[in-house]
Amino acid sequence: MVAGLDEKLEPIYQDVLRRNPGETEFHQAVREVLESLGPVLVRYPEFAEHKIIQRICEPERQIIFRVPWQDDQGHTHINRAFRVEFNSALGPYKGGMRFHPSVYLGIIKFLGFEQIFKNALTGLPIGGGKGGSDFDPKGRSDAEIMRFCQSLMTELYRYLGEHTDVPAGDIGVGQREIGYLFGQYKRITNRYESGVLTGKGLDWGGSRARTEATGYGTVFFLEEMLKARSKSLVGKTCVVSGSGNVAIYAIEKIRELGGKVIACSDSNGVILDEKGIDLELLKEIKEIERRRVKVYVERRPGSTYVEDGVIWDIPCDVALPCATQNELTGKDARTLVANGCIAVAEGANMPTTPEGVRIFLDAGVAFGPGKAANAGGVSTSALEMQQNASRDSWSFEHTEERLREIMVNIHRTCYETADEFGQPGNYVVGANTAGFLKVGRAMVAMGLI
Ligand code: NDP
Repeated sequence: MVAGLDEKLEPIYQDVLRRNPGETEFHQAVREVLESLGPVLVRYPEFAEHKIIQRICEPERQIIFRVPWQDDQGHTHINRAFRVEFNSALGPYKGGMRFHPSVYLGIIKFLGFEQIFKNALTGLPIGGGKGGSDFDPKGRSDAEIMRFCQSLMTELYRYLGEHTDVPAGDIGVGQREIGYLFGQYKRITNRYESGVLTGKGLDWGGSRARTEATGYGTVFFLEEMLKARSKSLVGKTCVVSGSGNVAIYAIEKIRELGGKVIACSDSNGVILDEKGIDLELLKEIKEIERRRVKVYVERRPGSTYVEDGVIWDIPCDVALPCATQNELTGKDARTLVANGCIAVAEGANMPTTPEGVRIFLDAGVAFGPGKAANAGGVSTSALEMQQNASRDSWSFEHTEERLREIMVNIHRTCYETADEFGQPGNYVVGANTAGFLKVGRAMVAMGLI
């Protein structure tokens, strides 16, 4: 069941398929945006005239390079790394680096493409980009991670700069990796250029609340969606997939706002804790010990672990997919709807398949797409850049308040834009349309570049 594309958009999509063979995630991300843009082209014919959509679908620059490194036994390994500098109409390329064995060009392009619209929605001066490597950090020592990061940056540094391209973290890349990457950039360039990477440690240019920002921001967006329906998080039962950076801080904020998270997961299995996830224990296992979630049940009486379990089978009021792309299928969406789920906010990027999204929208579930709901991470990265530029450091409370305002604004923008284009309550149309309009207008203004 695939929705039709506007007749002006179908040939553009066919061209994307032809020019980017085999990059299925990228195709999916493009199609999802194009499905929203038919009415925009009718209202604003200048975008077709200037071929804005064709230009947005083609990255400004794509870098692919070899990363050789040595493990602790002295064996040599070769990985492949990518940086896709997708669109700089609104500011320097901005987007994280992902280290995961599944990474290939199609994943980085889907993430970079989404990032263009997400960054536009934040209202901050940042363009869209993304990078990563097929390197698998699981089970690697700190020394191995450091050597890999140093080797990667030895090539990547020449494309970066605080006014050019500013990477951050994503799956497999947290503060430890950003530290090694920043150290090598500083050594090679002989410049202390704080604004060249975000997600830094608090002692060396990082922003308070950056670690928490994506998870917190997703929950702020969720709260706004519920408010728009005269509901709240208080007393709601929630499930959150994943147990990484985004999942942990989504769980923390849900708890603060009166909801109860009863399940989370990793790529091996699901833990269920009807009493509510013990966040301190989860942080200890994931952030300090860097172990698997199944360890949780050994230390928490009454909780259970299901190897290869499907978290979406657990009845809940609210679901937050916070792990990875396409982790929530049409079948999962049907189960959630049948179990009475009223809201879904995507902490991860493109975690719901197109069929899943349609099922949620048709069932009237409040559905917050990742490019709006998880924009809190990149927003706080932009706030980190602001602090670096003014050599300032804000308090946690101030930064969190800025983050909350940004998420409220993004929600309002998506909500109003969906209304304006005749699709009330459809945040997918709202986010795609509002993000596109901002980037498209800037591209028209800047001429054919
Ligand atoms: P982390 O590496 O901290 O955590 C990722 C979590 O997702 C882990 O629990 C991991 O389990 C699970 N996961 C990853 N890949 C898979 C897979 N193929 N199948 C099942 N589970 C998987 O990453 P983040 O929390 O930073 O990122 C999570 C999502 O949020 C990603 O989609 C990312 O793009 C998105 N995002 C992140 C932002 C940020 O600021 N960090 C900003 C905006 C979006 P396991 O340990 O078993 O691999």
